[in-house]
Amino acid sequence: MTPRSVKDIALALKTTEGGGVQIRRAFPTSRLEDLDPFLLFDHLGPLQFAPGEATGMPDHPHRGFETISYLLEGSLQHRDSFGHVGLLEPGDVQWMTAGSGLVHSEMPGPDLVQNGGRLQGFQIWVNLPKTRKMSAPHYQELKAAQIPVATSADGLSVARVVAGESNGVTGAVKTQTPVLYVHFTLQPGAEISQTIPSTQNAMAYIASGEARIEGRKAPEGTLAIFATDGDTVRIANQSTAPADVLVLAGEPIREPVARYGPFVMNTRDEIVQAFEDFRAGRMGQIEA
Ligand code: FE
Repeated sequence: MTPRSVKDIALALKTTEGGGVQIRRAFPTSRLEDLDPFLLFDHLGPLQFAPGEATGMPDHPHRGFETISYLLEGSLQHRDSFGHVGLLEPGDVQWMTAGSGLVHSEMPGPDLVQNGGRLQGFQIWVNLPKTRKMSAPHYQELKAAQIPVATSADGLSVARVVAGESNGVTGAVKTQTPVLYVHFTLQPGAEISQTIPSTQNAMAYIASGEARIEGRKAPEGTLAIFATDGDTVRIANQSTAPADVLVLAGEPIREPVARYGPFVMNTRDEIVQAFEDFRAGRMGQIEA
């Protein structure tokens, strides 16, 4: 087992998305465009809404990739143009293969809108290989209790394995290409090592607390990018408070990326086609 070194640790940038939701975006930024096969990493909130103020991401299309939503606090109501409706609650994951395209909305749940409260979660985009970009839209939805958990022998670290394998536990999601998505909660003194083949790109996002990675400090809201010089990533919590860390890795797709807003294809012509299809209603419409 060879530990991977850290290539960069960058602070996610505060911005707004959709209907004015505050997010922290780890990428794309001017510093980091993407990390093949990952196209986007957003940390939503944590936000505190007053009654009637909660906002989300109203109707918008997607084509050519997958969106992974993982909620920590609050609720998100999801609707799409094929009549699919779902409610995400704390700990739930929605892994959406947008494929050939759909229109959807991701809005705070009715209770959160009415009574106010906290909202926190993550949205990550994973690219699809050329051969699967136009596949039929597809969902994998997991309630919190369906996500396998691995606890370390010393009890100091808990891993929620969304996809891939961690500490002998296999995630619940079936991925289109090899992808690892693990949420670690590290108590003070915890130290984890996660196997990741050296062919894969890997990163760790510090959602709360502070981590120590190969001797470097990674505070809350930072993304650490690992070099591909080993097959294990090591993360420690040397602070006095718990830390939440998302570890993601994936086999690079290594195909040309043409992206514009909610569409990610291989060529500019395919992007133009996506806009035409969206405008002509071929991705459907959400019933009012
Ligand atoms: Fe979306």
